[in-house]
Amino acid sequence: MIEPSLTDPFGRQIRYLRLSVTDRCDFRCRYCMAEDMTFLPRSQVLSLEELTLIAKVFRQLGGDKLRITGGEPLVRRDVLHLFQNVGRLGYRDLSLTTNGARLDQYAAALVDAGVHRVNISLDSLQPHRFHDITRTGDLNHVLRGIDAARRAGFQRIKLNTVVMRHFNLDEVVPLARFALEQGLDISFIEEMPLGEIDDHKRLDEFVSSAEIRAQLESVFSLKAIDDDTGGPARYWAAQGYANRIGFISPHSHNFCSTCNRVRVSAEGRILLCLGNEHSADLRSILRDTPPGQQEERLAEALVAALRLKPERHHFNLEEPPQILRFMNATGG
Ligand code: SAM
Ligand code: SF4
Repeated sequence: MIEPSLTDPFGRQIRYLRLSVTDRCDFRCRYCMAEDMTFLPRSQVLSLEELTLIAKVFRQLGGDKLRITGGEPLVRRDVLHLFQNVGRLGYRDLSLTTNGARLDQYAAALVDAGVHRVNISLDSLQPHRFHDITRTGDLNHVLRGIDAARRAGFQRIKLNTVVMRHFNLDEVVPLARFALEQGLDISFIEEMPLGEIDDHKRLDEFVSSAEIRAQLESVFSLKAIDDDTGGPARYWAAQGYANRIGFISPHSHNFCSTCNRVRVSAEGRILLCLGNEHSADLRSILRDTPPGQQEERLAEALVAALRLKPERHHFNLEEPPQILRFMNATGG
C-alpha cells in the first residue's frame, strides 16, 4: 500500500476524483458546448483499463470519493464494465453525473455495480424548452431515466440545473417543487465561463444564487443547513420536505478554500482546477511505462501534480473566457 499523501501546497487534503470517461455527448447544451464540436479521436481517449488503473491508484493514495463524468458517461460503449471495476475498489462514495437520457437502461445495473449516488442534469420541465436548451434532448427520455433511478435504489439522487436568465429562470420554483415532491435533492448552478460559445453572452444570462434563492423563498420556507457533502454546493432545507436545495455559486460565493478535488479528463490529463489551466499528462505515463511499474509511476505523478494545484479560480464574466476548454472536455 502506497502511503497516503494527497495534500496540496495550501494544506488541502485531496480525496475526491472526478474521472471523465468521454468528451462525447448526445446533447449539446448551450452553456456547455458550441453547436459544432470536434471530439477527441478515440486513440487519444483513455481505455477502460487505463481509467480503472487511475481510479485504483487514487484510492490507494487515500482517495475516498470517485465521480464518473464526461461528456455523457452513458454514451460510452461498455461503460458498465468500468462501473463494475471501480465498484470493487472500496470507494466510500461512488457517484455518476449524467444527462439522464439513457438512465432507464442503466440505473439498476449501476446500483448493482456499487454506484451510491447519481446527479442528473435537468434545466427545464417544458419539452420544447428542454429541447432548445440541450439542442438535441428529449425531455421524456430524461423523465423516464429519473423514474428508473428512483426505482433502482440509489442512496441519493440530485438534479442539477444551470440557471440562465432568459432561458429558465422562470422555472426555478417548478423545478424545485418537482424535485422535492419526488424525494430528490436539487442544486442550482451559476453558469461558468468555460469554452468560447457564440450562442449567448454569459454575462447577460448570469443569475446569482442569491436571486434564485429569493425566488424560491417566495414559495418555500428555507433554512440553511450545515451539511457538508464534500462538494461545492451549499444546502438549504425546505420546510415540509425531506430533501435539500443546493446552490453552486462559483461567482457569488467562492468555494475554493475547501476544495478537495481534482479532475482527470478523458484524454488522461489531471486538471488541478476547473478555472485554471494547470494540468499534467497521465496518459503518456500509462502508455510509456511497462505494466509492472505503472501503478508506482502513476502514484508518483498524481502526488507531483498536486503541487501544481492553484489556490483558487478567478472567473470574470465581463472578459472573454480565460479557459478555452469546454465543460464536456473538462469533465463536469
Ligand atoms: N453529461 C453529464 C451531465 O450533463 O450531467 C455530465 C457532464 S456535464 C459537463 C456535468 C455538469 O456540468 C452538468 O450538471 C452541467 O449542467 C454542468 N455544466 C456544463 N457546462 C457548464 C457551465 N458552463 N457552467 C456551469 N455548469 C456547467
Ligand atoms: Fe452533454 Fe452534459 Fe455538456 Fe449537456 S452538460 S452537453 S449533457 S456533457
